[in-house]
Amino acid sequence: MMGFMRIEIVLGDITMQRVDAIVNAANSTLLGGGGVDGAIHRAAGPSLLAECRRLRQSTLPDGLPVGHAVATRGGNLPARWVIHTVGPNIHWGQTDPALLASCFTESLRVAREVGARSVAFPAISAGVYGWAAERVAEVAAGVMRDQVATGDAADAGPTVDLVRFVLFNEPLLSAFRDAFGDLVAA
Ligand code: ADP
Repeated sequence: MMGFMRIEIVLGDITMQRVDAIVNAANSTLLGGGGVDGAIHRAAGPSLLAECRRLRQSTLPDGLPVGHAVATRGGNLPARWVIHTVGPNIHWGQTDPALLASCFTESLRVAREVGARSVAFPAISAGVYGWAAERVAEVAAGVMRDQVATGDAADAGPTVDLVRFVLFNEPLLSAFRDAFGDLVAA
């Protein structure tokens, strides 16, 4: 089925979003951290960490690799799912934009897998992991341009029809608005 994918860019707190899935800029341990990761764990409550620990004890003993994504339930969040992904850390020499693009595409793949139709993303790697807002925005826009062009067209499976980028401050917001241009409805 050909899916129409709506893209939104908003200023806000991702933990408050009423969407099916929110994406967490996690670290490989999946055991929590600062920034958006800390905020998501606080808002979701202890069931989120418990589920992450179970993943570490079962399918992900060595943690989640950079550029991969995995879903858990959302606990007390308005969102039913949290999709955890690990962005590249520029301070560790992880400068390949393909790694960051993979975070966005893999998160969308996992969203489709769990049947999430609406997904909110933070600016992955734009915090402690040190990527410039403009670079993150450019990579995200590139992925979304591809998704809109080819995304669901060949799939018979479930579609994601809303992708919302939730930016935590004005400079991030304007970087995303600039990079997305007319991909986003006015
Ligand atoms: P990373 O380690 O991938 O860089 P961070 O959590 O340090 O992740 O930062 C990623 C982005 O998330 C930053 O731009 C930061 O401003 C933003 N952020 C922090 N808290 C929130 C929140 N509650 N909602 C949305 N974005 C947030």
